[in-house]
Parts: sequence; C-alpha cells; structure tokens
Amino acid sequence: DRKSTSYEHLFKYIMVGDSAVGKSNLLLQFVDKRFAPNSDFTIGVEFGSRSININDKQIKLQIWDTAGQEKFRSITRAYYRGAVCAMIVYDITRRDSFESLNSWLTDCRKFSSCDVTTVLIGNKADLEANRQVSTSEAKEFAEKNGLMFFETSAKTALNVDEAFEKSTEQILKKL
Ligand code: GDP
Repeated sequence: DRKSTSYEHLFKYIMVGDSAVGKSNLLLQFVDKRFAPNSDFTIGVEFGSRSININDKQIKLQIWDTAGQEKFRSITRAYYRGAVCAMIVYDITRRDSFESLNSWLTDCRKFSSCDVTTVLIGNKADLEANRQVSTSEAKEFAEKNGLMFFETSAKTALNVDEAFEKSTEQILKKL
C-alpha cells in the first residue's frame, strides 16, 4: 500500500534528559499506544517511528531514544546528528531532573544544528500529588530559553500526541 509508506518529510527526533524520567515510555506511547510500568532501564527501546498527518501532509517521525546512555552522559554528536527536534524531558516529581535541564540544553546547543526545534517536556503529570516542579516555573524556564513546553503523561497519554504534532507543525513552518 503505497499510501501508507509514502511521506513528504522524514524528521529525526531525539529524546534527552536524565534516566528514568520516562523517555522510553513517551516513545512507546506515541508509537505503540502502550505504557510499560516498572520498565526502569530495561525496555531498551532505541528507536521508533510513526507517520502523522499535518495540514494534509504525511510526515514520518523517526524518534531516537538514548537506550540508557544518559546514565553515563555519553550522548554525543552522532546521536544529535541530523535531528530536527530535540525533546528535553524531566520528571515533574523529581526536582533533580529539572535541575539537570541546563546541562542537557548546553549539550543540545553544542551538538545540534542551530535551527533545531527544542521542546521541554515535563513528564509524569499523572502524579500530581508528588509534584516537585510547578507548571509556572517550568513555563518560565521554557520561555527564557525559547523552548516549546508541554506537561505530559506517558502513562495516560496526556499531551503525548500533542507534543509531537505541535513540534512538527513548528518544524514545517521553518522549512
Ligand atoms: P527513561 O529512562 O527516561 O527512558 O524512563 P522510562 O521510560 O524507562 O521510565 C522510567 C519509569 O517511570 C518506569 O517505571 C515507567 O513505567 C515510569 N513512567 C514513565 N513515564 C511515566 C508517566 O508518565 N507516569 C508514571 N506514573 N510513570 C511513568
């Protein structure tokens, strides 16, 4: 079926952020509509793709996950190469993962091409009772650094499609 395999653009997305913030599960939810509880470091999803339709155009998103490399901060140039979008993920219930954002941003700026679309993702928004980072504080950080911003839940799928779709719209506008 040609229709399902043809697309107008192929966009490489990368996921960065501290380990266990939910990067693999965001990928799993977006690509497969699945959630893996207690997956910790074991899912080993390294790569996934899905086509979406934006303004009557088929766009194929190819999403790269760190496969645990973030534990060693060994994510380098090769991973960032060719990416048109970087999703920097933190966990709203873990203050430390928010405090790490500056170093992830520094890496993004160092290794990505200058016009990469960068999206801040506050994941685990379903765990409101354990929140350690307010929405307003994160929004302010995003504005200051020119990032798009979404609070998501890989568990409930809240805002997961939206984050990918809105960022793709943004990338299309830049073309
Ligand atoms: P990664 O290391 O950043 O890829 O994180 P994982 O996707 O492996 O997730 C780490 C842990 O957090 C796993 O136990 C997941 O089930 C859990 N998790 C991931 N996303 C969410 C979420 O949105 N809500 C909740 N409640 N748990 C999540």
